[in-house]
Amino acid sequence: MKCAKCGVDLHSDDVYEYAGQTLCEDCYLDLVATPKACDPWAVHSAKKMSKNQLSLTPLQEKILNLIKEGDPLTAEEICEQLGISESEFRSNFVPLRHMELARACKEGNKVCYTLFDS
Ligand SMILES: [Zn+2]
Repeated sequence: MKCAKCGVDLHSDDVYEYAGQTLCEDCYLDLVATPKACDPWAVHSAKKMSKNQLSLTPLQEKILNLIKEGDPLTAEEICEQLGISESEFRSNFVPLRHMELARACKEGNKVCYTLFDS
């Protein structure tokens, strides 16, 4: 199996599905973590959020604090320390990325998460 976007070989445990495409974690994160022009609602709501109410859920605050202290961290490390599932982490990470508080980055072969401006 190969990533539909960048063509990297995929292992069955790090395959991501997005809009019917099979993607590697990088490409998947690019798509879900970056507001795109084709998704005006996401861009709109993210901008609105960051201007009017920079309010995070308790879980999002925990994720952000964890990244602040230990960055960069992998999703596994974050999930382990917070006792959440990876899908929980992802859905909570997306708003942090939209608000430009945190972002994904590459550390060697691993995808890690770090503060947006670090
Ligand atoms: Zn890819």
